[in-house]
Amino acid sequence: MLGLMQNHPLLISSLIEFAEKHHGDAEVVSRRVEGDIHRYTYKDVATRSRQVANALDRMQLAFGDRVATLAWNGYRHLELYFGVSGTGRVLHTLNPRLHPEQIAWIANHAEDQVMCFDMSFLPIIKAVHSKCSTIKHYIVLCDADKVPADTGIPGLQSYEAWMGAQPSTYTWPIFDENSASSMCYTSGTTGNPKAALYSHRSTILHAMAGAMPDALSMSARDCLLPVVPMFHVNAWGLPYSAAMTGAKLVFPGPAMDGKSIFELIEAEKVNFAAGVPTVWQMMIAHMQSGNLKFSTLKRTVIGGSACPPAMITAFNDLYGVEVLHAWGMTEMSPLGTVCTLKNKHLALSDADKMKIRLKQGRGIFGVDMKIVGDDGKDLPWDGKAYGDLLVKGPWIISDYFKGEGGSPLVDGWFPTGDVATIDADGYMQITDRSKDVIKSGGEWISSIDVENVAMAHPSVAMAACIGMKHPKWDERPIIAVVKKPGMDVSREELLAFYEGKTAKWQIPDDVVFVDSIPLGGTGKMMKTRLREVLKDYKLPSA
Ligand code: AMP
Repeated sequence: MLGLMQNHPLLISSLIEFAEKHHGDAEVVSRRVEGDIHRYTYKDVATRSRQVANALDRMQLAFGDRVATLAWNGYRHLELYFGVSGTGRVLHTLNPRLHPEQIAWIANHAEDQVMCFDMSFLPIIKAVHSKCSTIKHYIVLCDADKVPADTGIPGLQSYEAWMGAQPSTYTWPIFDENSASSMCYTSGTTGNPKAALYSHRSTILHAMAGAMPDALSMSARDCLLPVVPMFHVNAWGLPYSAAMTGAKLVFPGPAMDGKSIFELIEAEKVNFAAGVPTVWQMMIAHMQSGNLKFSTLKRTVIGGSACPPAMITAFNDLYGVEVLHAWGMTEMSPLGTVCTLKNKHLALSDADKMKIRLKQGRGIFGVDMKIVGDDGKDLPWDGKAYGDLLVKGPWIISDYFKGEGGSPLVDGWFPTGDVATIDADGYMQITDRSKDVIKSGGEWISSIDVENVAMAHPSVAMAACIGMKHPKWDERPIIAVVKKPGMDVSREELLAFYEGKTAKWQIPDDVVFVDSIPLGGTGKMMKTRLREVLKDYKLPSA
């Protein structure tokens, strides 16, 4: 017997319709590429998304055609989020931090038909447009009178001229909720990048689960600053969760430095922010140098790479900001776990609460997890056994776009490539990427643990631990360290700093001071490139 409830497909257009009707006057504020602050409401987002939809229909794009964006976090990008997907086309967010050759390769692989880009990225488009064989329309996100002459880009037009002339009435089409809505290519540290292709259904379910109290706890009372880019995994689904809840949105545009972010948080009374650890590191450095404090920020979600404990404690102790440590990946839309306490933890001491908060957190409803050993058998949830982490759920990948790389699943589970423990309360802790784990004398050393100790030293700005070949132990860890400006620490002092904080055999064999640690397009440390930089390095003990 079937239930007798209405069967409405879960479509992205419903989010902006809802936001317009119930939170029409809630604000969306953007720092623009032009440098000024732009301010309007969800009602305006909805109106202009409908104009975008009309403009796309006029281009006679087919259902499912890809519309690419190369853009910062801002209101026009948000309009494309709803306008493109709402009409049944696929929003393809491209990462401007990638090498132009890689951007062209990805645009061709995705068969993008339209490219919408911020003026900041004009040089990239100039460099690659002749190589992008499928793109028929180039739209620069600016006013009609700002389009530069003689760019050589065929048919280049301004976003405002393109969509501004269109009617603001539009009836969003109803179609299968399993239709593709957006796509994002993986960071691709090895081989060519592959695309995760999200659906309307997966996006809505993910946005709903992400907004729940034990996830990011979003509501109409929030003022949210997504520093995490809209060009990578849909800014963790935050634009969708914001529309679903009516939260005020604040976009940083291209100004991602500590000073600009801090000023925006203060000016707009942001209470909730989201970003990767490197962004917050810049902001904390700015605040410490000026002895600044937040007046409204209450919580921040940090993920994308391991959040160093020193950062969690700095936010908590110095600034009264609760850190939600979160873990996920492109193939997971991305949210998998968020670290929030349970009722039984509330009576714990602050120190014991902090021990829990340092973990990557509990699976949110919809994400099933398990850890397995080398033999593929399940490992216990005891907080000690570590193994490969596998996941499944309605917003987790089933196949890559165009079937690249064959089926990624193992018996219906997606292997994340991360190594983790899970404790009896379901808190998952990443010990490493499987390729970064250091195998020393038959034991595993977590590179994240080694980095976290160094990051707690007051003179250390950034630390990356990698394994070096060793004749006796197979591999031994070394730590590459960037010092904070004007601060000093010697190799011996840093190694002594490890004493008592970790087992003796897990203390790195050496410290290498470097000017910088190579970061990838999404702010993650690129250990493959660090290994290339240190290719002539020899362990003192080898
Ligand atoms: P991406 O698909 O580019 O978003 O990268 C996903 C990968 O980033 C994961 O598989 C993890 O290795 C890493 N990652 C994301 N969040 C965290 C976190 N909170 N702690 C440790 N690693 C993380």
